[in-house]
Amino acid sequence: MKLIACLNAIFVFQFIKIAYCLSNYECSNQNLILEHIDANGLESCNRQFSIYCCLQTLLNLETLQIDDSSKSVKLSKKSKAISEASDRWQTVHPNFWNERFPNQCSKLEQSPINIETDETVHDRNLKDFKFKNFGLKVQWKMKFDGYSIEFVPVYKNSQRISVSGSNLGSSVFEIANFHFHWGRSIGRGSEHQINRRSDAAEVHLVMKANENGKTRYMVLGFLFTLRNIRNKNLDFIIGQMKKKLDIDEEFQVDKTIVSSAFALTKLLPNLREINREGYFRYNGSLTVPPCTEGITWNVFRKKIPISRNQAQVFNNENHISHRPVQPLNSRTVYRSARMP
Ligand SMILES: [Zn+2]
Repeated sequence: MKLIACLNAIFVFQFIKIAYCLSNYECSNQNLILEHIDANGLESCNRQFSIYCCLQTLLNLETLQIDDSSKSVKLSKKSKAISEASDRWQTVHPNFWNERFPNQCSKLEQSPINIETDETVHDRNLKDFKFKNFGLKVQWKMKFDGYSIEFVPVYKNSQRISVSGSNLGSSVFEIANFHFHWGRSIGRGSEHQINRRSDAAEVHLVMKANENGKTRYMVLGFLFTLRNIRNKNLDFIIGQMKKKLDIDEEFQVDKTIVSSAFALTKLLPNLREINREGYFRYNGSLTVPPCTEGITWNVFRKKIPISRNQAQVFNNENHISHRPVQPLNSRTVYRSARMP
């Protein structure tokens, strides 16, 4: 009996070690990743990782799912949609973008970041945003690029969804797209952290304005937080996303489909409350390659509630879609006028 218990313990220990390694590294580009494991002095991961990569090749499997609650590991079927696009940045794990795209992704003002609220600086010029046409129902072109799912508005007339206000002067920022970021485990998929806490997922509204002939980009970031009650407002968007992700199971990465019409207030129903709770402002970058800097970031304090069941939609593809937090370096994070 003792021998069996001992063997069991060894087996479980090996599995936990493999799980630890794989929670940090994936096989999307085996050689590159193994190289970096060595460079980082994590040789102990190397053997388990190699075994996993052999298994992956032999069995045509994609990722191991790490179930944090039960410490169990299960193999999931390879996503053909993702593997087809193997030479794209979407297939390189975000942990390795800094090395893979050094001229872009390893600069000093990168996003996302952890926001330590006690270290933010109050800026009374960061006034409320003016949200225009967030209640306008439009159709959206939906695209899954193998990493994130993106919605681009399809306008039927001259009305545009835009924001102004804050400290933006006369600039009006129109929406270019909104897209989602998520993690492999439900509850830990946001890109930004607030006081070192990750949340379930994150949505980015990418806004652009023309300022003196130059295009300036700004992002409005909202974190999703797990709640026990279903957020009925999200049902429609989640339904559209499911439709898209289900189609992408059939090799259709990058193919666009057009959603039914809906307004952004489905996602953000209470704009007044969003303004009342305030936001954090800092200078950062795109959170995907080419990691372009010069982006004005606004991370809102008001979070979007989502139930565990609803959040499942993000786990459809069994892959992460969020970049780890980047060093703040010499930047300052400001908090808006509503947060004294
Ligand atoms: Zn984003």
